[in-house]
Amino acid sequence: MRVHVADHPLIAHKLTYLRDRRTHTPTFRRLTDELVTLLAYEATREVRTSPFDIETPVGPTTGVRLATPKPLVVPILRAGLGMLDGMMRMVPTAEVGFLGMVRNEETLEAHTYANRLPEDLDQRQCYILDPMLATGGTLAAAIHYLVERGADDITAITLLSAPEGIETLRERVAGIEPPVRLVTGAIDERLNEQGYIVPGLGDAGDRLYGVV
Ligand code: URA
Repeated sequence: MRVHVADHPLIAHKLTYLRDRRTHTPTFRRLTDELVTLLAYEATREVRTSPFDIETPVGPTTGVRLATPKPLVVPILRAGLGMLDGMMRMVPTAEVGFLGMVRNEETLEAHTYANRLPEDLDQRQCYILDPMLATGGTLAAAIHYLVERGADDITAITLLSAPEGIETLRERVAGIEPPVRLVTGAIDERLNEQGYIVPGLGDAGDRLYGVV
């Protein structure tokens, strides 16, 4: 698994305000949206394109457009939904599939409770959206789910990641084809006993949707 930490002052600045407990839901949502747009730029660096002939006002040229089948964006419910608009702004013609995953708060293992994905993911480049890579269980399960359905290139985009989660993910995707990439805004210090990222930002879903 390749890991890319988006080391950029604008990302660090926005992450700081996102982490701050004084940041209220509307600002939290806007910052998430802006951060995803910045992360999407890096995450789509290898998106497939095909040549496309056009005429400019001055003459003919060959450009590129997104190849078919179109990329598939997969937000993991619920918190991944907060990342969808920012991603779609960058790749407006992508298709969207939804995956509902929840972790058991005792075992911290993830299981799928909802799936709205195309049946056949053959030759699909997939972009999984989940703000927090904590234990790694949810992302690992989501990646295996997509690979079993034929996805042949997978990039996970997270705002924050814990070192423990990255290691778990690395182990759980080690044997699989296709290649998996992780693009994240920052790697934090550690996980606490409750499975929260430290210093992190708290519960991303609660903060996105105003649950107190
Ligand atoms: N999920 C969250 O929303 N926050 C964490 O810190 C870990 C998992």
